[in-house]
Amino acid sequence: MEQIEVTMLGTGSPRPDLERKGPSQLLTVDGTHVLVDSGEGVTYQLMKAGICPSKINYLFMTHLHSDHLFGYGNFLLGGWGLGRRELTVVGPKGMKHFHDTLLDLFKDDIAYRMSLGRPGNGVLDVKIIEIEQPGTVENCGLDVEITAAEMIHNVQTYAYRFQIGDKSVVFSGDTAPTKEIIKLAENADILVLDASLTSNEIYENATDPELIKIWNELQKEHCTPSQAATIAQEANVEKLILTHFLPGIDEEKTYREASAKFQGKLYVGKDLETVQV
Ligand SMILES: [Zn+2]
Ligand SMILES: [Zn+2]
Repeated sequence: MEQIEVTMLGTGSPRPDLERKGPSQLLTVDGTHVLVDSGEGVTYQLMKAGICPSKINYLFMTHLHSDHLFGYGNFLLGGWGLGRRELTVVGPKGMKHFHDTLLDLFKDDIAYRMSLGRPGNGVLDVKIIEIEQPGTVENCGLDVEITAAEMIHNVQTYAYRFQIGDKSVVFSGDTAPTKEIIKLAENADILVLDASLTSNEIYENATDPELIKIWNELQKEHCTPSQAATIAQEANVEKLILTHFLPGIDEEKTYREASAKFQGKLYVGKDLETVQV
C-alpha cells in the first residue's frame, strides 16, 4: 500500500502576497516527489517542508504563466547546486524554449560552476517533454499512469491525473469550469482545483475601471469556490483542495460557499499544508 500525499507549496496567484507563495504543489508517492508548477518561492517552500530541492527529479508544468514559472530558475540551478543530477520536465509547448533561454542567459554562470568541478548533469541534460495533445503522458520515467487534459484558460493549460494503482490525484492548473476537468477527476482521491474567483479585498467593490476590467476577464479563465465545488461533486471526488488565491481572501466564506456544493472533505488550501490520500 503506497503512501500518497499532496503538499501545497504555494497557494497564491500573480499578485504578490506575504501569506501565499506562487502556485506550486508537490505529489509524493512512497518517497518519490513530483513537483507540479514552480511558482515564486518554490525552492524555499520545499526546504520548509523538509524536502531538499535536489530530491525532485520530476516537474509537471500546467501552463507557462509567469506566476507558475517564476520559481523555475532557482529550482533548476539551486537544486543542481544542491546535488540534483537528473531532471525531467513535462509541460505545454514553449517549455523547452523557456528552459533553453534561461540556460543561455546563465551560460557563463553555469560554465563557471562547472569549471570548479561540478558535472553538467542535472542542468545541461534536462529532459523536456512538451505535450503535443491531451491523453496519456509517455516516457517521463515515472512508474505511474499520467493523463493530461486541456483546460480553459488564456494560454494552453493542461491538468494532470496521476493514477497510482487504484488511487488517484488530479491537479487542474488554472481553468474556468469545463467538462474536461470533471472527466479527468472522476472518482479521484484528491483534486487540487483553481478557485481564484474567491471574494477578495482587491477586486471586490473595486471602482477603478482597470481593476473592474481585469476582474471581468478573470471570470472566463478561473473558477469560483462554488464552481470548483460543483466540479468536485460531479466528479465524485473524495477530497477537494481549493487554491490559487488572491491576497486577502475570506477563508471562512470560501469554505461556506464551497461546502454548500461539495459533500466530500474540503480544504481551503494553505501554504505547506499536507493532505494524505
Ligand atoms: Zn496562475
Ligand atoms: Zn494562469
